[in-house]
This record gives sequence, structure tokens and C-alpha cells, in this order.
Amino acid sequence: MKLLVTGGAGYVGSVVAAQLLEAGYEVTVLDNLSTGHRDAVPAGADFVAADLADSATVVTADFDGVLHFAAKSLVGESQQRPELYWRNNVCGSLALLDAMRKAAVRRIVFSSTAATYGEPESVPIDETASTAPTNTYGHSKLAVDRMLGGEALAHGLGAVSLRYFNVAGAHHGFGERHAVETHLIPIALQVATGERDKLVVHGEDWPTPDGTCVRDYIHVADLARAHLLALDACQPWSHRIYNLGNGAGFSVHEVVEAARRVTGHPIPVEVGPRRPGDPAVLVASSERIRAELEWEPAHPEIDVMVADAWQFTRSRT
Ligand code: UDP
Repeated sequence: MKLLVTGGAGYVGSVVAAQLLEAGYEVTVLDNLSTGHRDAVPAGADFVAADLADSATVVTADFDGVLHFAAKSLVGESQQRPELYWRNNVCGSLALLDAMRKAAVRRIVFSSTAATYGEPESVPIDETASTAPTNTYGHSKLAVDRMLGGEALAHGLGAVSLRYFNVAGAHHGFGERHAVETHLIPIALQVATGERDKLVVHGEDWPTPDGTCVRDYIHVADLARAHLLALDACQPWSHRIYNLGNGAGFSVHEVVEAARRVTGHPIPVEVGPRRPGDPAVLVASSERIRAELEWEPAHPEIDVMVADAWQFTRSRT
């Protein structure tokens, strides 16, 4: 079976592409390398350097399905340059769907996000929660979720959107490599390698047990497995949405403690102001995907996620 993986040179896309190859699929990666890395495309995958806007030149009737990761994904940048997010994420996805319709490729698994929900009314968040994104990144992903719903209803697409919470860890030798790092675990590990002096905690006055924000971290290997299940679950004329998290939250202090245990480094912290746009608590209910696709996280322990990320970091320094 032949699959197109857009964004397969990025963090999650490269791990999923490797997992698909291991499962015996033929994989072609489409990525413009704007944030991805050529050496993150797994050996064994074909590679096409192209924008989503040029999907029509790549998507042919030979493909049995698409896993769609290619996107801009920085919340802060999406507020400063929203046009990038509308063009890449929304117009790019529309070009991909047009190409798929023309080539009669009728299966897609889409990389959506917890940012589609915005500030939660209650936690854990399930898929019936209202969607009120607080930034353009979340709006652009929600627009694509809606686009997939319409395409399924009108043109028979079989689509699954997976709404990720906080992805962590490494797998198949691929991990997080952002030019400008803003995420908690990679930053904690940069302190451990000496690349930074300290980690700034974004606020200690949140309404949480230790005053720092709580997030639901999911191991990238567990996330990758969910994509293979979702691909099998794509049904013509249907669009399904599943949350993907562990259902348990860890505070910023708890994550930093895990990084200290794993690395043996003291990881000094300084408490700074709150980061604009951060909700206090984001925890997923993943009951729907557990019940319908029998997905279970194999690595819910924060120490395992941090240890795998640490091993990846050390392999590159
Ligand atoms: N965070 C922090 N210091 C940092 C980076 C992140 O205190 O240097 C906090 C951030 O405010 C949030 C949590 O860690 O509460 C997770 O942030 P991250 O950027 O990793 O993921 P997000 O939840 O924003 O997708």
C-alpha cells in the first residue's frame, strides 16, 4: 500500500513515516523543508521537496492514502504573522484536498491539535467540547478539520483528525529539532547539555496544585501508533475526530523534576511572568479513541518520554 506523508521531514511526521515503513507500507514524503530536515526523512521513503500548494504535481492515483502533517505550528508566530498560517495550513490543505479529489485518493489522517479547543470549560477535554481557539494556529487547524468534514460529506472522503495534546519523546531515532525552541522538555534538556544556563518557568501563580501550568504529555511512539489505527479506520463519507493524550497532567515543575532525575543535572529554574495565551490546565479525555480504535498508550510515564528525548538529544550533541 502506497502512502503520501506530508511534513514527513518534521518531528511527528518523520516518526510516523518510519513507523509506516516498518509496518510494510510504501512511503513518499512531501516536505518543503521550511522547518523540517532532509536527514529526518527515514531511509526507505521517497522524498519530494515541494510546497502543499504544488500537491497536484505529486498526488497521483497510485496513492492509497495521505497522512497530513505539513503545517506551520508556532502559536506565537501565528499571532505575529497570521497570513503564513492561513496560506500554509488552510490554503495548503485545500490544494492537497483538491489534488486528492482529482486523483481519487480517498483516505486522509490529519494532524490536528488541542489548540482547536482554546481555553477549556472543563477538564478532561473530550471531543464534544466547544471549539474556540485563542490563536491563529488553532483557528487554521480547526478550519482544516471543518474542510475535511465538508469534503467527507460532499465527496465521500474518509478522514480522521487526531487532536494532539503535548507530544514528547523520540522514536526510530527521530525527535524534536526546532530552530527556535519554545517547548518545555527540549528547553530543560538544553539546560542539561549546557546550551542554556537556566529554564524560565512561565508563571507560578496559576490555579494549579504547585502554581505552574499542567499539560497532558503523550509519547511520540504512542501517537505514531494511533496514526496507523486511524488510517485503518478511515471510512468513505465519514470524518472522525479523536483526542490523543494520556488523560493525566504534569505540571511544569513535575516535568523539570523528571528532567533532573533523567539527566542527573540540577537544571536551575527562574520563575518569570505568565506566557500570554497559556491556559492553566490542558488534559485530554482520549476515551473515544480507546473505545473505538482500541488505542492504549504504552509509555504514559513522563520519565520515559524525557529519557527518550534525552537519548535523542545526546545522540546529536
Ligand atoms: N514552559 C515554561 N518554560 C519554558 C517553556 C514552556 O514554563 O521555557 C511552560 C509553558 O508555559 C506551558 C508548558 O511549559 O505551560 C508547556 O509548554 P510547551 O511550549 O512545551 O507546550 P504548549 O503547552 O504550549 O503546547
